[in-house]
Amino acid sequence: DALEREIEEILGLRERREKDSELYKIANEVFDRTTKETLAYLHRRGKIEELYGVISTGKEANVFAGVDSEGNRIAVKIYRTYTTEFRRIWEYLAADPRIGYLPKDMRKLVFVWTRREFKNLQRAIKYAVRVPEPLAFRNNVLVMEFIGDELPAPRLKDVEKDLTKTDFEELYDFTMGVIERLWKRGDMVHGDLSEYNILIHEGPVVIDWSQATVKRNRMSLELLRRDLTNVSNYFRKRGVDVVDPEEKFRELVER
Ligand code: ADP
Ligand code: MN
Repeated sequence: DALEREIEEILGLRERREKDSELYKIANEVFDRTTKETLAYLHRRGKIEELYGVISTGKEANVFAGVDSEGNRIAVKIYRTYTTEFRRIWEYLAADPRIGYLPKDMRKLVFVWTRREFKNLQRAIKYAVRVPEPLAFRNNVLVMEFIGDELPAPRLKDVEKDLTKTDFEELYDFTMGVIERLWKRGDMVHGDLSEYNILIHEGPVVIDWSQATVKRNRMSLELLRRDLTNVSNYFRKRGVDVVDPEEKFRELVER
């Protein structure tokens, strides 16, 4: 039908006829009716011209590389509308004072989750944190700036073997700076800050803002402590003379 044709157009299959490509396989697996309709909507609005590759497949979401109607490269994060992470997502959203109404329906809960990640990106970008620019969202689909050149930028985890002690020291300072600025100026905490969520592209870029929340959240202190602890452990193991995370935690939360 018309929707299927539009999806094929988005996937560029009519020209390329690569029905056995990884892109096609993943799309076939994870694009349910809602997702297809959402992609078609974003296509008509020019937000997604084409998806041409799979960047990442995860439990909760898949990330695709694409272009918008102006030829800008984009990364498109598509949450699964059926997720085994329902409980965790529900708990995180329930604790967030910005979220008024929590749908009982899993699909709609995922829409709220997606919108929150978009809002988090908009908020984080203001506090001098380099993040992918948020471009559009609808339902379970989030469109953002693509970070990378030809290929998507590597994660800190992917390049760590090539880094020197000085590189680690600089990255540690950067990451602590992010935690501090977000908390003090943005009243915000990332909540999943690690070597897997920092891309290296002309400097570090912080991604994956799905768990991020505001200071007023009753879980925010726990998340702040978790970020400080994870970041400190990681950089300590790579030879950086790190500040005690508990000390940093007290410094940030006192006053
Ligand atoms: P999750 O960890 O929940 O699956 P992420 O937001 O961390 O989702 O994205 C998964 C992977 O996709 C990242 O590790 C990164 O490699 C890639 N990625 C995410 N956003 C972008 C982006 N804007 N540009 C390039 N690559 C991205
Ligand atoms: Mn991630």
